[in-house]
Amino acid sequence: MGEAKKRGTPEERAAQARARVESLRPAQLVGGNCKTAFSQFEAIPAPGLQGIDAVFGGQCPNCGNDVIVFKGEPNAVAEAMIAYERMMGEGTRLGYQAADGTHVPFEPGGPGTPEGSVH
Ligand SMILES: [Zn+2]
Repeated sequence: MGEAKKRGTPEERAAQARARVESLRPAQLVGGNCKTAFSQFEAIPAPGLQGIDAVFGGQCPNCGNDVIVFKGEPNAVAEAMIAYERMMGEGTRLGYQAADGTHVPFEPGGPGTPEGSVH
């Protein structure tokens, strides 16, 4: 907030980017399929996804579903989710996690969500 931003070395900037991603990491992901919450997941590098701050993904330990969470601007998250769904084809379920970790189905055109996940 208001602090002068110095341009660091590439290493410093990379460390800052990692710290930023880590700060966005949810405590847990929730599988949209079986609602299992799990905390073993990875930050996925997503360079070039405009408006997306971070992407996290892991596999549900219960049913094996891949769970991907996008963090960023609501519109960018919605677009990324739709693009991902298209890429993955039928059977991919879109949803997002509310702040308390509950899973909410995602509807394109619905109210913007601050983060989204694909199951
Ligand atoms: Zn599951």
